[in-house]
Amino acid sequence: MSFLRPYRGLGAAPGFVLGLLLLAGPVLAHGTDDHGRQKLPLGDGRISETPKAGYLMSCQTRFSPNAPGASAYGDWLQGDTWIPALKPVVPGQVEWPDWRLSVTVEGDRRVVRANNLPKHASGDFPIPRSSEAFRYDRNPNSIRRQDVLLTLPAVPQVAGMPTCVPMGMVGFALTGVAIYNAVDARGEDAPAHEIQDACNAHPQQQGQYHYHNYSPCLTDTAGPAGGHSNLVGYALDGFGFYGLHGEDGRKLSSADLDACHGHSHPVLWDGQMRAIYHYHFTEDYPYSIGCFRGSVDPALLRRGPPGMGAGGRDGMGRPGMGPREGMGPREGMEPREGMGPRDGMGRAGFQGPGGPGGRGEEILSRAAAGLGISADTLRRAIGPPPPDLAAAARQLGISEDSLRAAMHRAMAGN
Ligand SMILES: [Zn+2]
Ligand SMILES: [Zn+2]
Repeated sequence: MSFLRPYRGLGAAPGFVLGLLLLAGPVLAHGTDDHGRQKLPLGDGRISETPKAGYLMSCQTRFSPNAPGASAYGDWLQGDTWIPALKPVVPGQVEWPDWRLSVTVEGDRRVVRANNLPKHASGDFPIPRSSEAFRYDRNPNSIRRQDVLLTLPAVPQVAGMPTCVPMGMVGFALTGVAIYNAVDARGEDAPAHEIQDACNAHPQQQGQYHYHNYSPCLTDTAGPAGGHSNLVGYALDGFGFYGLHGEDGRKLSSADLDACHGHSHPVLWDGQMRAIYHYHFTEDYPYSIGCFRGSVDPALLRRGPPGMGAGGRDGMGRPGMGPREGMGPREGMEPREGMGPRDGMGRAGFQGPGGPGGRGEEILSRAAAGLGISADTLRRAIGPPPPDLAAAARQLGISEDSLRAAMHRAMAGN
């Protein structure tokens, strides 16, 4: 499978970029690392404009590498894989006794009402400056109540054609938490790059608390007990989200599911066994949904502030603030709220699209940031085109694999 996606808007120095592409070559994913820790393929670049298994069919196909998000790469990112157990977790145990959620069937509609506060404890947000998590992700947002009102078909039907998945909310969990798609505002694998709390959740700029992947705080008792997982939420097309386990309790991966990340078979639906399409969470990318199998009421995609879906009250009246993750033209184009001047850590310093230097320069800067060195140092090591990665790695005193992996990550963050 190809890890790199085609480039749009290739800037200056295309020869340089192409040289890097050729030299970087494929990197294969493995199931576990040397210590038996789960190793997952990195989803960066796995965005498709058509339904494609293992990909996210994203409505937004252009992303800014300067969009808000994690500020640095950590050692849990290894080549084109990542190791969840090595990623820092946002500390804290904040309880939300005022959380509210109701799901009612009213005629042929299912109505979800919630305030988007979680049923479970959350981490401390904004991410505490003293935490290890802060070294990699300075998410400055607090969790804030949202008025969520979703009117979904009670018995959804498979549509003629799958449709793309927006940024922002794509579904809602029975724990009172929004479900977002697999990517962050940069179009990169959000669970791999962004630092979340122990429930795999965090707030975006309007304070909407959300998951990008399976949360251990979702209540699935049936799956781990050897049966098909419980229902854990609803997608905006009305189909259910179930946990990690399929029939006979077998843990599923994206390869077991269709391009939209679901399948059809009898499941418990409104109290009875019913053969119906449904999505599953999996541990691997795209984690929750690849595309919508049913039709989505356009009003759910249009209404509310970016990233909030229906009924949002917060953020719409704050033009120019720039969503941390959301849909529409403003998406990700502005620095994250409250983020101070970048201090040379992590990804600081690279040029955005249209900025001086173009695509090649941007990749170089990002790769340098990932390696914790300056872009100048990396440029000198690589030398004039065509780039010589082996020589560059020797000069930098790192392995060629590490350099290649850094280049991969830099290129994938298109
Ligand atoms: Zn997020
Ligand atoms: Zn199933």
